[in-house]
Amino acid sequence: LHTEKSELTSAEKEFENAIRPQELDDFSGQPQLVENLLIFIKAAKIRGEALDHVLFHGPPGLGKTTLSRIVANELGVTIKETSGPVIEKPGDLAGLLTNLQPNDVLFIDEIHRLSTVVEEYLYAAMEDYRIDIMIDSGPNARSIQINLNPFTLIGATTRSGLLTAPLLSRFGIKSRLEYYTADVLKKIIQRSAAIFQTPISSDAAGEIARRSRGTPRIANGLLRRVRDFAQVLNDGQIDLGITQHALRALNVDEHGLDEMDNRILSAIIEKFKGGPVGLTTIATAVGEEPGTLEEVYEPFLIQEGFLQRTPRGREATIKAYEHLGKKPGNNLAA
Ligand code: ADP
Repeated sequence: LHTEKSELTSAEKEFENAIRPQELDDFSGQPQLVENLLIFIKAAKIRGEALDHVLFHGPPGLGKTTLSRIVANELGVTIKETSGPVIEKPGDLAGLLTNLQPNDVLFIDEIHRLSTVVEEYLYAAMEDYRIDIMIDSGPNARSIQINLNPFTLIGATTRSGLLTAPLLSRFGIKSRLEYYTADVLKKIIQRSAAIFQTPISSDAAGEIARRSRGTPRIANGLLRRVRDFAQVLNDGQIDLGITQHALRALNVDEHGLDEMDNRILSAIIEKFKGGPVGLTTIATAVGEEPGTLEEVYEPFLIQEGFLQRTPRGREATIKAYEHLGKKPGNNLAA
């Protein structure tokens, strides 16, 4: 369930689109970010200008795509959506940019995966609304300059650490999406259930929320699975009993940790005596990139008190030992 959008099946994408909030009013959580965005959007509208380029960064499933569409909606402009790996050549980028109407939004998901050449073309487009393209080759090669309509680039990334300084500096607005509280997730679950006309009790929604790793995508995904159990075993009613039964059957972790979270904690405890241990060492032990550990997994584990960052490395906390049913050693983070 803990996936990037590009890894979702088409049924999952369809499901996501059906429940994706279209208006700011339906978008819960991230209050500070939303408040700021509203100001910037209003200001751009008053001036009749394109909104500054926006970067949304944060772990997968927290609403970066959703928010991008809402921003375009609030601006009253069209959004064209693409993603880093899809733009293979500068010509692909030129095609997208020249088709934008004044003040439109170009959304590039997984923007950390743009190729270096394409990224370099993007600089002039973002800064001066123009693009230079080479036509012909050999002795006839020449570059022509195409002026573009003013536009807003919205980039989304789970790995802002991979963005180059020149690209980062061209975003006027950089916002980090945070994990959602269980209360907000509960509201999101109740809204999704209402869209699917599935009755859900308040305590059942709360239970799913607590086990969703602070992530709306996971909350909605779990709701979808629990709904299956409810339909087959409980006349479609989602109550606490059927929810607990389903979550047990699905092997969903009590704290919402996913398989990689648990592997990270086990590795630290079992292979490195609970730490402190360096990020790269942990990454090798669990077979994941250090940057992904740092930007995608670790923030949640730290926020929830399973992991501590110390100057000498990462340490498992008592909560991590308890969670894995292990006995703490001596060198322990409280
Ligand atoms: P990201 O682009 O960050 O990976 P998405 O925008 O695709 O995440 O959101 C994933 C799913 O979670 C979508 O189905 C969306 O409807 C839901 N979602 C995300 N954020 C919110 C929110 N704040 N309120 C309600 N639903 C949300």
